[in-house]
Amino acid sequence: MEVKIVKTTSPKAKPDMATVPFGTYFSDHMFMMDYTTDKGWYDPRIIPYGPLEIEPCATIIQYATEVFEGLKAYRTPEGKIQMFRPDENAKRIKNSAERMALPQMDVDMMVDFMRQYVEFEADWVPSDPGTSLYLRPFIYATDPCLSLHPIHEAHFCIIACPVGNYFPDGLKPVPILIEKDDVRAVRGGTGYAKCGGNYAGAMRAGEKAEKNGFSQVLWIDGVERKYVEEAGGMNVMFKINGDVVTPQLNGSVLPGITRKSSLEIVKDWGMNAIERLITVEELIEAAQSGALEEAWMVGTAAVVCPIGELAYDNQRYVINGGTIGEVTQKLYDDLTAIQWGRVPDRYGWNLVVK
Ligand SMILES: *Cc1c(COP(=O)(O)O)cnc(C)c1O
Repeated sequence: MEVKIVKTTSPKAKPDMATVPFGTYFSDHMFMMDYTTDKGWYDPRIIPYGPLEIEPCATIIQYATEVFEGLKAYRTPEGKIQMFRPDENAKRIKNSAERMALPQMDVDMMVDFMRQYVEFEADWVPSDPGTSLYLRPFIYATDPCLSLHPIHEAHFCIIACPVGNYFPDGLKPVPILIEKDDVRAVRGGTGYAKCGGNYAGAMRAGEKAEKNGFSQVLWIDGVERKYVEEAGGMNVMFKINGDVVTPQLNGSVLPGITRKSSLEIVKDWGMNAIERLITVEELIEAAQSGALEEAWMVGTAAVVCPIGELAYDNQRYVINGGTIGEVTQKLYDDLTAIQWGRVPDRYGWNLVVK
């Protein structure tokens, strides 16, 4: 399908990459495509970035019928542009759309649209160390009707924002609050789907954590209320007695691509990387005994973020003396070197755009 192009007549100045806040400054263009049950997906186009016109009664506004993705395009030392595992994002948004009964898009077609969009916006991919172009693809339903019925109309959109170095002063361990009251997801629910609704229900706990000086929450499972699941917008990993341990994908945990990539990397180093159930009790005991040697979060935005302290039930547990652990640092260094093309892509994860 050919992508129609409408160029902006008022290109924006590029932001100062040292100060631009995450997710606030968007590139000149966006990708749009429409869907109806009769026509399927049609009219792919790259058009100037701007407000959407939408009926107040549209299902996205009333019933949060939306799924999204987050991935990055990186500038290599040679000046090339590459995306990190975009096929994984295309697969995941298809699964998310399936869960939300939204129209799905063919994986190869979606990857090709992302590639064409990044190629068109190439001069928005920054080159300063640690910077990248963050892509936000999303699908939302627009049926103009308050009654509940299957989706007939939707849009697929991609917007992009240049993002600065998440850790301008090096990796800094953050404090995390284990959330006892609110839950993010339940098995059979939408936890494994990357959908806006999951975040809407998580806002209250996130706000409480932030108010009390925590970086984000660590969620516990919603059924038995005893297993650790994931952090606010990132998966979580621990080093316990020398092994890397992470909560298994049980339907309520988001299957992160950074998580998946991290597991492959640490296994290649020769470490045990174990996906299993982890109770809060085990974690607290391990923190007290020192068996919990390191803890960190993984996700596209920060890639790897060390956890320096866990709080639970008004008690605080410092991990690794509040400093960054060896495995955490090594994983960050290895993964970011692959993403920014500073080392050969030994896994074939990057899609070179140009
Ligand atoms: C996107 C997301 C992650 C991380 O996934 P990546 O593919 O690694 O970016 C983890 N948890 C939640 C809830 C998410 O939305």
